[in-house]
Amino acid sequence: GQKERLQKVIAKSGITSRRKAEGLIESGRVKVNGKVVSELGTKVGQSDEVAVDNIIIEKEQPVYFMINKPRQVVSTVEDDKGRRVVTDLLSGEIEQRVYPVGRLDYDTTGLLLLTNDGNLTNQLIHPKFEVDKVYVAKVKGELSKEEVLQLKKGVTHDGERLKAVKSRIMEVDKKKGKTKIELVLHQGKNRQVRRMFEALGYRIEKLKRERFGTLTLGNLQPGEYRELTPHEVKQLK
Ligand code: URA
Repeated sequence: GQKERLQKVIAKSGITSRRKAEGLIESGRVKVNGKVVSELGTKVGQSDEVAVDNIIIEKEQPVYFMINKPRQVVSTVEDDKGRRVVTDLLSGEIEQRVYPVGRLDYDTTGLLLLTNDGNLTNQLIHPKFEVDKVYVAKVKGELSKEEVLQLKKGVTHDGERLKAVKSRIMEVDKKKGKTKIELVLHQGKNRQVRRMFEALGYRIEKLKRERFGTLTLGNLQPGEYRELTPHEVKQLK
């Protein structure tokens, strides 16, 4: 079979990023066939046994899924409060251990990527790669054009500067006093969209992520998921 660099094999197993795997190798925590290997260039094949801290890693094939996360689901693989987690929704179907790419709040719905490809995960969540994250927020109250523009100029919340790359009003329901707004973010700070509206004195009633980079939800319903096509995976990289 084909040989690959040790740090890549470790990253592909999903336990960490390639860069962090390099650190593990250099600090002598990686063994190949029972011997410590601290050379970064070392190549290994399918039959080689790779261990990190004496735990043999699974050399998994990278897999990629998108899910439409429902409300009241935590976007982690474990929850100390015993709430439902997003990987519970996959149970039985997938051999590989997959992890969410970034987070969606407990009550946020929409597109979440799940993969065991640690390198891609790191790429996609780093702001410097400028991956579009497109959200639709239903907000209580009527926002003015200026306020919507302010979301793009930036607002400050808890001492942090938060901004959108695009913001636009999709719909105003004057009867119910609600506004539907689309926001495109490159940043991915904790609870960013909710905090941006909070900074202007508004509260979000519903929040959904509709697009992540080149991927859109299509007609995937909350709780449904599907594997990405090879083409979609290529586009992401
Ligand atoms: N911004 C939020 O406030 N919540 C999310 O889940 C995602 C982005």
